[in-house]
Amino acid sequence: MGNKIIALNNETRALKQQSTPSKSASSQGKVWLVGSGPGDAELLTVKALRIIQQADLILYDALVSDEIRALFPEQTAALFVGKSKNHHSISQSALNELLVTKAAEGFNICRLKGGDPFIFGRGGEEALTLRKIGVDVEIVPGITAASGCTSYAGIPLTHRGMAQACTFITAHGETGLNLDWHALARPAQTLVIYMGLSKLPDIRRELSYHGMPTNTPAALISNGCRPEQQTVIGTLETLPELAKQHQLPSPTLVVIGEVVTLAPALNWFNTLIESEQHELSA
Ligand code: SAH
Repeated sequence: MGNKIIALNNETRALKQQSTPSKSASSQGKVWLVGSGPGDAELLTVKALRIIQQADLILYDALVSDEIRALFPEQTAALFVGKSKNHHSISQSALNELLVTKAAEGFNICRLKGGDPFIFGRGGEEALTLRKIGVDVEIVPGITAASGCTSYAGIPLTHRGMAQACTFITAHGETGLNLDWHALARPAQTLVIYMGLSKLPDIRRELSYHGMPTNTPAALISNGCRPEQQTVIGTLETLPELAKQHQLPSPTLVVIGEVVTLAPALNWFNTLIESEQHELSA
């Protein structure tokens, strides 16, 4: 176990002594893998909020918003275990080890993730590791970015007459961008791409090469469901330039398909900063 984990251990032990664990220290603790949704604290489920309030220890990711972190009880140890530019992070194996050790010590742990733990959130890996060695695990689903961000941008993912299917894609998988581009380029569907911000030129190249018209409507939604949300609308062709021009930060979600054309009419959260309407109707 590395120094960082030892530091975390000392910190949590000190804090645990001040708090009242819901189980005696001798019994095995439990891990709740909890989805925090995309940002707005009111999008937490009632169950997620209860687990946050009752846990002995909260381990949270970079995607957990400030608004949600503000709900952590003051007396509860809360540790950042995510990956982000400004913070140190721990490896997935070190994190798994931390979860196992703390559960064995009797901590009831809220492992809080952005969105939904089972959608591009590595929740499956953590749950498998824990169950393999007999740690009790419960999964609390959350609103995934695809659903939350598009709702707040006014983009109905499967609007009748426009999309009969919706596909969630990661641009950062173990296989890289080794996707079935031919199937993804077909009409009458919506593509939602997670972790795609740095891959926009590749996404444009592959989709257009496999037959998607370059004037297909497309949107970029950054910081979805948060006060700083920005929604930019263009086309498959203009996606990389729009991201650059507006310096869109992480996290940003990419949405491609005709449903994007509804955003100017349904943009109830007022986050539309650019919409290339002339191109969409061309
Ligand atoms: N488990 C998460 C996804 C983790 S992958 C979920 O279900 O939402 C991380 C990617 O999700 C980011 O790179 C971004 O593409 C997307 N994402 C997550 N939260 C977001 C938000 N609030 N706004 C925009 N994109 C978001």
